Amino acid sequence: MSNGSQILVFKDMGLVSQVFDETSLGSLQGHIAVGHARYSTTGASVWENAQPTFRATAEGSVALGHNGNLVNTAQLAELVAELPRENGSRNAKVAATNDTDLVTALLAGQKDEDGKPLSLEEAAMTVLPEVKGAFSLVFMDEHTLYAARDPQGIRPLVLGRLERGWVVASESAALDICGAAFVREIEPGEFVAVDENGFRSTRFAEARPKGCVFEYVYLARPDTDIAGRNVYLSRVEMGRKLAKEAPVEADLVIATPESGTPAAIGYAEASGIPFGAGLVKNAYVGRTFIQPSQTIRQLGIRLKLNPLKEVIAGKRLVVVDDSIVRGNTQRALVRMLREAGAAEVHIRISSPPVKWPCFFGIDFATRAELIANGMTVEEIGKSMGADSLSYISIDGMIEATTIAKPNLCRACFDGEYPMDLPDPELLGKQLLETELAAGPASTAAAEALRRP
Ligand code: SF4
Repeated sequence: MSNGSQILVFKDMGLVSQVFDETSLGSLQGHIAVGHARYSTTGASVWENAQPTFRATAEGSVALGHNGNLVNTAQLAELVAELPRENGSRNAKVAATNDTDLVTALLAGQKDEDGKPLSLEEAAMTVLPEVKGAFSLVFMDEHTLYAARDPQGIRPLVLGRLERGWVVASESAALDICGAAFVREIEPGEFVAVDENGFRSTRFAEARPKGCVFEYVYLARPDTDIAGRNVYLSRVEMGRKLAKEAPVEADLVIATPESGTPAAIGYAEASGIPFGAGLVKNAYVGRTFIQPSQTIRQLGIRLKLNPLKEVIAGKRLVVVDDSIVRGNTQRALVRMLREAGAAEVHIRISSPPVKWPCFFGIDFATRAELIANGMTVEEIGKSMGADSLSYISIDGMIEATTIAKPNLCRACFDGEYPMDLPDPELLGKQLLETELAAGPASTAAAEALRRP
C-alpha cells in the first residue's frame, strides 16, 4: 500500500482471513495497493516467498505480485547475479527462493549504459521481454500502479474501472466483488500503468495467445469470464458433451462438490438422468489439490466430503468430477459411496486424463505421480473400484470453451507445451533452494519431461 511517499508491505503465511483483520487493514492507508494470495509453485511455502515481494529502487521502492510460474528461472537468476553492485556489496541479494523475487530484483536494479538507474517503467520494458513462462503481474512504486501479462496470456488478467480509480485483477469475479465495472482484459504481451495522469498502455511483446484450458475446467471461479467466455457455462457444456461421449444407464447424477457441480448439471441435462446432491461439502476445508503435502491431502478428502446416505442408498450413480490427478480423491470417494449403499458408481470426468506436468503455475505432480501415466482408462477405473470410468475427449473439452484450439494451452493433457522449455535440470519447484538444486528437484523435472 502506498500513501504517495512510502510503501508499506503487510504479508504473512496462512489464509487471507487469518492474515488480515480490521486493525491490520486499518493500518494500510493510501491510494495505490497490490495484494496477492500465493499458491506455491517455484519456491517453498515460506514467509520469505510470500508476496508482494519488495525491493528498494534508486528512486524509491517496488512491490510486486505474480500469478503464474516462470520457466527461465535459472537464466533470470544469472541476470540478477550480473546486476551492478552498490558500494562493493551485492545490492540485489535474493533472500526469497522464488521466481517472482528475481523479477522484482531485476526491475529494481536496471541501469543504463552510463550507470544511471532506469525508471521502473523503463526497467519493465527492458526486463519483461526476458521473462519466460506464465506471468500475470501487478506491481507498484510510490506513485504508479503497473500490470503486465505474458505474451501467451496463460493466466487471466483483467482491467476494471471504479468511479474514482482503476482495478487490475486475476479474475473478472474480483471486479464484481469490489464493485468495479469490467473494462477489458489486459492483452497478452501488454504492459499498463495507472497514475495521477490516468491509464496508459504499451506492448513489450507481440501477443501469441495460449490461455490455460484448465482455468475453464477447474481453476477459475465459475462466475469469471476469460477471453469473453464464462467459466460456468463452459463447465456445463463440458458436462453435456461428456454425457454424449460417455453415456451410462443410471438413476442419479451427483457431483463432487463444488468444482464438479456445473459439469454434473450439464451431464444430467443432456442424459435426462436426474441431478441430486449426494455429497455434502465441509465449507471450512480448502481445495484438496492445493494443499501441499500428500498426508494432508489424503486426510483432506475425508474431512472435505460426507455422503448423504438417504439420497444415494440403492442408486446407480453417475459421479461427475472435473479432473483426476493422482486419483486419491476418487478412490476414497468410491469407497465412501459404496459404504453409504450406492448400487453402482460410474465416474465421469469433465477433462481428459492429466498426463503431463504443468510448468505454468499448477503444481499437479511429477509424471510418476499422475495416475493416467502408464495405466489405461479401464485400469484406472478398476484401481478406483468404480463400475466404469470415462473422460471427456480433448476436442470435446476445447469445444466447450468456445475458444479456438490453437489459442489454448492444453499441455497437461496432450504434452504440447506452448513455448520452448529449458533443459529439465533447469526446471523444478526448488530450483533456487540451493541445497536441493542438484538433487531431488532436478531428478523430478528430468523424470517429468520424459515421454511415455
Ligand atoms: S499445462 Fe495444463 S494447467 Fe498448465 S497452463 Fe497448460 S493447460 Fe493450464
